[in-house]
Amino acid sequence: MRSNVPEIFGSMVFNDAIMRDKLPKDIYRSLKKTIEAGRDLDISIANVVAIAMKDWAIEKGATHYTHWFQPLTGITAEKHDSFISPQSDGRVIMEFSGKELIKGEPDASSFPSGGLRATFEARGYTAWDPTSYAFVKDGVLCIPTAFCSYGGEALDKKTPLLRSMETLNEQALRILRLFGNSSVKRVTTTVGPEQEYFLVDSDVYNKRKDLIYCGRTLFGTMPPKGQEMDDHYFGAILRRVQAYMEDLNDELWKLGILSKTEHNEVAPAQHEMAPIFDTANISIDHNQITMEIMKNVAKKHNMVCLLHEKPFAGVNGSGKHNNWSMITDEGVNLLEPGKSPHENAQFLLFLTAIIKAIDEYQDLMRVSIATAGNDHRLGASEAPPAIMSIFIGDDLEEILECIEKGTSYKNQGVGKMEIGVHVLPTFPKDTTDRNRTSPFAFTGNKFEFRSCGSSMSVSGPNTILNTIVAEELRQFADELEPADDFTAALNELIKRTIQEHKRIIFNGDGYSEEWKMEAARRGLLNLPTTVDAMPTVLDRKNIELFEKHGIYTETEVNSRYEINLDVYSKTINIEANTMIEMAKRQILPAVNKYVCRLAETMSIKQSIDPLLKNAMEKDLVKKLSSLEDKAYAQVNELEKLISKAPSYDSDKLVCASYYKDRIIPAMEKLRAYCDEMEANTSSELWPFPTYGDLLFSV
Ligand code: ADP
Ligand code: MG
Repeated sequence: MRSNVPEIFGSMVFNDAIMRDKLPKDIYRSLKKTIEAGRDLDISIANVVAIAMKDWAIEKGATHYTHWFQPLTGITAEKHDSFISPQSDGRVIMEFSGKELIKGEPDASSFPSGGLRATFEARGYTAWDPTSYAFVKDGVLCIPTAFCSYGGEALDKKTPLLRSMETLNEQALRILRLFGNSSVKRVTTTVGPEQEYFLVDSDVYNKRKDLIYCGRTLFGTMPPKGQEMDDHYFGAILRRVQAYMEDLNDELWKLGILSKTEHNEVAPAQHEMAPIFDTANISIDHNQITMEIMKNVAKKHNMVCLLHEKPFAGVNGSGKHNNWSMITDEGVNLLEPGKSPHENAQFLLFLTAIIKAIDEYQDLMRVSIATAGNDHRLGASEAPPAIMSIFIGDDLEEILECIEKGTSYKNQGVGKMEIGVHVLPTFPKDTTDRNRTSPFAFTGNKFEFRSCGSSMSVSGPNTILNTIVAEELRQFADELEPADDFTAALNELIKRTIQEHKRIIFNGDGYSEEWKMEAARRGLLNLPTTVDAMPTVLDRKNIELFEKHGIYTETEVNSRYEINLDVYSKTINIEANTMIEMAKRQILPAVNKYVCRLAETMSIKQSIDPLLKNAMEKDLVKKLSSLEDKAYAQVNELEKLISKAPSYDSDKLVCASYYKDRIIPAMEKLRAYCDEMEANTSSELWPFPTYGDLLFSV
């Protein structure tokens, strides 16, 4: 029996309807005002809200509450406190105060701070983000919060995101005023993250140490059938997966998450869930919850949900397509080409601001998606390359060209294409969404940032996007506000911007080798790994950008830079050690057993008939023995390299570079030997499930 969706939808969320219902009218109104204005909540109001929230949560089965936050580990954190408060007669009552609602002090000294807390205060605090609703999950009232140090430095991913939404709002409003819009009060960024994932059977998963420790396979040859038939993409969904998706949807809907579409992806065992877009911070909170629920629901179905960017070599990786746009409080999507010349001029200005932003801050875009896991995915099958570029489709590109050159547009009849005079054609999705190879694609009325990794929080990428676009809008507004002739100044600005930044537009095949060369010719950055990308975040222009817009202080940028490189080094260290363990204790003993069996067979056969050639045995024994020796030597080499690695406390870039330049190539070499042994060893003796077993396990 399927559940009644409208009934369960949001049933575990303390949303607007519940607040209106449960709160006294004046309190509700003050709370709404505070939320809309983004101001701090008055304690007297917080006290009333807290009681209503607690009573509601208890009705939903909650006994505890937590300030739910997003530390720099990229996952979410919660520390549960119960509502109980002891009474003098030995009994307890359930209590929750306004103070507890708006501010928490988790003992968070173990969360990464990149040295921030050492220099400032030892402890951090969490503060309610009232724009994101509280919810009940697993018997706990979760209150979405920001996490800061006592000096006010952000220790989380939510704070900078909220700051970036604020600065984009300010600058976009300046532009809208220039176009004569005096009624609009707020511009918010909208995000719809499409989440890709793999499902594998738990029994198979549990036999793979690499999946358990690293979330991805470190060994494995391709099965005879992979994704070449394209028969999985949008294919019929298996019963077991269907049951999983139904369960997942129920859980997400209860939490008010707008899970909308689900389908099979290109690789076997790969799937996708897309929600309906929402305000950026809410959507990102929801995506964090979604990832957690995906894993939990899988367990109930005796499956494991893999969110790693590249769980299997040679098969598509998993991304998180980050659909992004800006919307006014009057409901206008600012990236929707309009129906009048006036609206179109405005659209073109926002569009060119984005083009300029991506061109000038290619480095930050690349940094925002830099993780060890995503490095494997970028530039590999079906994933955009590490080079940033924008896809806008042929129609729109032609229009920009006509504007730049002052020539006529074919669909416009006679006369040249003039901004603010001509109506742009609408760009149907099918002409704008054909290119899957582009990292940043215009898809009709939004941009899709496709380089984001599946396991990462998209707070970082959206913080960057909001900030760089805000900066360009600021420059545009500074230039246009004093202009005597607005239309002339606007035309000149759009034209000039296209001329100066069109190199970032690329509608061709982003996977091709020619593009790498062409991109280099255009002077675009190609930063293939996290280690190549990270140092650019410290460039003066980037620090100045962050400080100007109040997103990060220089100290905060430094801390994030250090944490990211630290996580990179540690990730690869764990992977390398896992390889050593699997090679030494599983693969080599198994191959050795097979070699021994072959040798035994050979001698038995020999004793029966000395004339028998035993060509297969001889050949395999020779081949496998040689591979065993090579693999064994490589294990020793890898161990030696790890022992010589710089300590995590040394310079983070030096350490991460060592892992990238020395450890990763050694790991690849070891893998190659082991994979060749797999291909030549009896499957009966192979010590763990193969790619075929994993990819076709469900
Ligand atoms: P696909 O890209 O898979 O073809 P769609 O284009 O329909 O699918 O939508 C992809 C995602 O983009 C969905 O999560 C959707 O909610 C989101 N989306 C649509 N419009 C916007 C918008 N204006 N702002 C942000 N996200 C949006
Ligand atoms: Mg998409």
